[in-house]
Amino acid sequence: MSNDRKVKHVLGLSGGKDSAALAIYMAREYPELDIDYFFTDTGYELPEVYEFIEQLESILGKEILRLNHNERAVNNDVKVFDKLLAEHNNFLPSGRQRWCTIRMKLEPFEKWIKPYLNDGYEVVSYVGIRADEPWRDGYTPNESQKYLKIKMPFADDGIKRAGVISLLESSGIGLPKYYEWRSRSGCTFCFFQRKIEWVRLMERYPEAFEEAKAYEKRAETSANGETFYWMGPNEPLTTLENPERIAQIKANHEKSLKRFEKKKARERKRKLGLHAMVNEEQLIDTMFMDEIYDDVEGGGACVTCYK
Ligand code: SF4
Repeated sequence: MSNDRKVKHVLGLSGGKDSAALAIYMAREYPELDIDYFFTDTGYELPEVYEFIEQLESILGKEILRLNHNERAVNNDVKVFDKLLAEHNNFLPSGRQRWCTIRMKLEPFEKWIKPYLNDGYEVVSYVGIRADEPWRDGYTPNESQKYLKIKMPFADDGIKRAGVISLLESSGIGLPKYYEWRSRSGCTFCFFQRKIEWVRLMERYPEAFEEAKAYEKRAETSANGETFYWMGPNEPLTTLENPERIAQIKANHEKSLKRFEKKKARERKRKLGLHAMVNEEQLIDTMFMDEIYDDVEGGGACVTCYK
């Protein structure tokens, strides 16, 4: 690191709890840093996310830059995902081919910081990886981004999930409202959703669900004859038109939830102060969705979209 470089501090907000708590933490603990907060708006975020970002803006007392808002979310009346899907030969993004994150989240970020790097700045990007999570890259700078540094203050300072909740509660913002039914921020059609979350999306936001269904229809059959759908290879969203399938998904989820509660509730209440922080069953359901399904952070769900 060169000491005579100008430094630009940036912090990306996904609409998720960890990045929001990190913004509050940085503003409280490091008030001397002039941090630019940004939100990369794909144009397909949940209404609760937009609301949460606005609330956060007023708590921080600082504008949160919308990187995508005007230039990419809607382009000549063609929504950005429509355009990108065509560019990707109508192949839906998936856990293995996550082009959506690169095109809708990372590229706008790179475009935004490029002039600063070209101008000789060192850009320090703060990422909300917690101390109780497996270490993951927030973002891997490329060759031309030698002076882009990633910092993880929660991991460095030992802040865990309980600390994150406490930061949100003490600031008055609390958890994002989508926790009433969904475990993460991100696009309405995100393939990292659990089946139960698709059912809830259909019930809460039928238009967004229909839009996701329409994207599936555009998806082509891959070379090996396997068709990829949002919920997986063999289960198009149209299967949720069958009330029996919905009932089955709900019953399966209920069983998994009960199993999780039995196994963990007492221990978590003691260790994490869960009772004080999250006293609604529905929030336990969404807050611990990964653990309910014996998973870690959605099996690789991305830092950029959910943190
Ligand atoms: S939230 Fe999901 S669908 Fe949206 S960009 Fe991220 S991984 Fe892709």
